[in-house]
Amino acid sequence: MSMDFETVIGLEVHLQLKTATKIFCACANQFGEQPNSLTCPVCLGLPGTLPVLNKKVLEYGIKVGLALGCEINPYIKFDRKNYYYPDLPKAYQISQYDFPVAKNGLVMIPMEKGELKKIRVNRAHLEEDAGKLTHEADGTLVDYNRTGTPLLEIVTEADMRSPQEAYDYLQVLKLTLQYLNVSDCDMEKGSLRCDANVSIRPREETKLGTKSEIKNMNSFKAVKAALEYEVIRHTQVILSGEKIVQETRLWDDNKQMTLSMRSKEEAHDYRYFPDPDLVPFVVKADKIKEIRQSLPELPYAKLERFKNQYNLNGYDAFILVLDQTIAQFFEECVALYPEAKKIANWLNGPLLREISDRKSSLAELKLVPASLAGLIKMVEDGVVSNLVGKDVLKIMLDTGKSAEQIIQENGLAQVSDQESLTRIVDEIIKENPKAVGEIKSGKENVLGFLVGQTMKKTQGKANPKMIGEIIKRRILDA
Ligand SMILES: [Zn+2]
Repeated sequence: MSMDFETVIGLEVHLQLKTATKIFCACANQFGEQPNSLTCPVCLGLPGTLPVLNKKVLEYGIKVGLALGCEINPYIKFDRKNYYYPDLPKAYQISQYDFPVAKNGLVMIPMEKGELKKIRVNRAHLEEDAGKLTHEADGTLVDYNRTGTPLLEIVTEADMRSPQEAYDYLQVLKLTLQYLNVSDCDMEKGSLRCDANVSIRPREETKLGTKSEIKNMNSFKAVKAALEYEVIRHTQVILSGEKIVQETRLWDDNKQMTLSMRSKEEAHDYRYFPDPDLVPFVVKADKIKEIRQSLPELPYAKLERFKNQYNLNGYDAFILVLDQTIAQFFEECVALYPEAKKIANWLNGPLLREISDRKSSLAELKLVPASLAGLIKMVEDGVVSNLVGKDVLKIMLDTGKSAEQIIQENGLAQVSDQESLTRIVDEIIKENPKAVGEIKSGKENVLGFLVGQTMKKTQGKANPKMIGEIIKRRILDA
């Protein structure tokens, strides 16, 4: 019996919001501090304390909801999700149960041939993070600094049909969140965490198969690998005539496999109920409108605008849009020197290469748009060759000097006076009688060889176009 299976994936992303203080108290919301130094009676869950909602958290939640095309729920209500765990001193987590701040959104992911696929966002709700346990040989340590860190949990419908689509969804989501500047989105630091639900079913089947939930992935690559592993495991189990058990599984990045953590039978009943310490309230429509108007231009909108306004191809525009600072830098350069395609080439090529070689970022490099625009203009005007221009860029990044200054100080300007170039060309012609003969007999492609020889002699400081013209003139007009 051969069976063709379809993969069904849904994702839950926990996003730590980058507010100055925690969600219900005035403690600093920071990563990497001395354990238990950022706590107070509220986030330690001491009796008699009262939580107060951080307005910024709500604003960020609404902002993300709007950017994901969600309906915003103006009725803000918090609930207690009851369970006991050592990292949760109150024995309940404050979350949103029946009234998530946002619901019914859409994220578009790129497919083949430039098409987009819709991934539906079921809901996004606000909640507090728990503390962090560290297991050591002689016991377990608990750090409550993370307790009360604001989280936004973003849950999709089971709309993804391959691990690659899940990966693409995460990329688009992360980019959108970065544009909104509401989170570090750093999976390694845990500011973006992802759980995945995956099942398979025969292709013609409409009912969902039994799913497993995978946790503990610390990169998008790991999410994809864990899903790929699970799809194979599910297929093998079903083809061998056994049944998939609904369970939570942990991804082991070293072994590159998932391991069973707990089955559904042990799952908790959280006994949600409204938190009596946080009275529900309604966000005014004006406030939501104000937040909507504060949204930045989002990645897809910017991509379309770059293609139209600057006449860029999809690839160039895409690379620029992947980094908001690069996109802005590009526009500032174009404002100074309106050659969009050339600037995109320099940004997407030599500059991104330098950034990656230096393991740096554009912000850290302290490059100003005027410097890069100035350099590109000098290359286009033929003051230096493209090749030398790349060296000038390196020096520019090291020293912060302008292209003009670097070219002058290092004597890099191309030899462009006709007389000295003609003298060099004549030498080359004398040294290469065979090539000259071939050009005379109509083999124009040999011209490139002589141009190369001349460039070598000038140590790359000549303008190749100009040399080509001189060589032609000297040979053909002779
Ligand atoms: Zn606190």
